[in-house]
Amino acid sequence: MAEHYDVIIIGSGAGGGTLAHTLAGSGKRILLLERGDFLPREMDNWNPKPVFVDGKYISKDTWFDRDGKGFQPQVHYFVGGATKLYGAALYRLRPQDFGEVKHVSGISPAWPLSYDDFEPWYSKAERLYQVHGNGGEDPTEGPRSEPYPWPAVSHEPRLQQISDDLAKGGYHPFHAPCGIMLNEARRPMSTCIRCATCDGYPCLVHAKADAEVIAVRPLLGRPNVTLLTGAEVTRLETDDPGRTVTGIVVTRDGNREVYRGDIVAVCTGAANSAKLLLNSASDRHPNGLANGSDQVGRNYMFHNCRAIAALSKERNDTVYQKTLGINDFYFATKDYEYPAGNIQMVGKSNAEAMRGEQPQLTWFAPEWGLTDTAKHSVDFWLTTEDLPVPENRVTTDKDGRVQLTYSPTNAEEADRLYEELKKILNHTGMAAHHVFRKNFYMDMDIPLAGCAHQAGTCRFGTDPATSVLDTNCKAHELDNLYVVDTSFFPSIGAVNPALTAMANALRVGDRILSRIT
Ligand SMILES: Cc1cc2nc3c(=O)[nH]c(=O)nc-3n(C[C@H](O)[C@H](O)[C@H](O)COP(=O)(O)OP(=O)(O)OC[C@H]3O[C@@H](n4cnc5c(N)ncnc54)[C@H](O)[C@@H]3O)c2cc1C
Ligand code: SF4
Repeated sequence: MAEHYDVIIIGSGAGGGTLAHTLAGSGKRILLLERGDFLPREMDNWNPKPVFVDGKYISKDTWFDRDGKGFQPQVHYFVGGATKLYGAALYRLRPQDFGEVKHVSGISPAWPLSYDDFEPWYSKAERLYQVHGNGGEDPTEGPRSEPYPWPAVSHEPRLQQISDDLAKGGYHPFHAPCGIMLNEARRPMSTCIRCATCDGYPCLVHAKADAEVIAVRPLLGRPNVTLLTGAEVTRLETDDPGRTVTGIVVTRDGNREVYRGDIVAVCTGAANSAKLLLNSASDRHPNGLANGSDQVGRNYMFHNCRAIAALSKERNDTVYQKTLGINDFYFATKDYEYPAGNIQMVGKSNAEAMRGEQPQLTWFAPEWGLTDTAKHSVDFWLTTEDLPVPENRVTTDKDGRVQLTYSPTNAEEADRLYEELKKILNHTGMAAHHVFRKNFYMDMDIPLAGCAHQAGTCRFGTDPATSVLDTNCKAHELDNLYVVDTSFFPSIGAVNPALTAMANALRVGDRILSRIT
């Protein structure tokens, strides 16, 4: 006899973990199924070689490109999902991102809800995830009903100098919103120690506001919440009419188990949520569960990102570098009719992680060894929106494995952003010819593998013919199935996606609560 729950949540990352946190207080029986385990706390958490060179915390999955060539996707199967490794840059989308935006490669479509609809949930998510920031500095930011719950993380001297130089050059640098538990006013009491191994690393001292630490851990003692780790959901079964999910098929310790719940939320990340629905095809849902629209798996997006290191003669002794953002090119400018994107900082380069890039580095700075190069680099992360294209999609092969077909969009905008960065460097004492690409998150030779910002495979909307989910993220075709991760994004904007996934989980959680209580 399968166990029965009020709500079953599949996946414990930004979407699923936050949803569980929202629902737990109701006292309803909640089962959280997570295919990974707790990320081990060990010295390797903060060691660049195991993390970046050996990929110790990247899943062993193989996905396949359109030609059937296998690659290892940079996904992370742990309690907390990708947020265990994320940079915790917790941005809101801009109000305009919720409307239609014209891009060089086409249209970024409007969302069925507006920024105003999301604003209260953004505020709640910022409170929950302890976001540090300074409202009003970024001219592209939307209105806020509440100030950031924590003051912005201060710039270290080199970043302050860059910020000052940019402001003198007429740009509008701002303090980037960071989800780290840093208490600068009372450093001895601070959970976060402000270290250099944050962006892309797990936090050894659990001071990063990730979904495990913030959302899941606090629930573990609750009698109404059960977390099963090592529990990979492989299929969802429905009743005969196909309107209700009745069985959740799990592989755990090599055994097949089935769980039952009144409400089921799929939160396994954009690619894996599409995979699960597609692999749950049945007579009633021959193209995959909830896929009468043929939209499941389509419109896969993951941002056009570039990690760039710029060398300057001055040393950059910054420890925690992710404090600065620049959105001067987020929208069309008088010089360019399309949006180019967001510039922010990425974790500080270090010699160990740079080792794989040694040939280019010695070309750029022949007089410096790797250690010197790392000491002088200032590291930027450039994000350009990519568009939801139906042909960019997740499908599954005959063995149910992920196949990813993807062609980039808005490449011209990404090039433009890179050119703007090079101009910026002239204001900050870093010559444009001392700029090179890093490939920490994204192997430039296998861009599909860099799927950190994946989104869009089950878009929400009002029309069941063109969307998978309704505006509450419930599947149009089912009565008890929700998808609550980055899959619901109809477009992705050009800022990091996690805060939007968290805010949406709070919003959908509220809808589910009103249904079950
Ligand atoms: C290195 C890195 C840096 C990043 N930096 C930032 C940043 O600074 N700011 C930002 O906003 N975003 C960042 N992101 C992206 C951000 O982490 C994701 O957008 C966010 O975590 C997505 O949330 P999600 O709920 O869709 O998926 P996830 O958080 O990945 O959660 C999915 C969960 O489902 C589980 N799962 C998968 N399949 C199954 C299955 N079949 N059965 C059971 N469980 C399953 C997974 O193990 C995982 O726990 C970063 C990501 C990475 C990898
Ligand atoms: S900067 Fe803070 S949150 Fe980030 S890894 Fe270091 S201690 Fe953890």
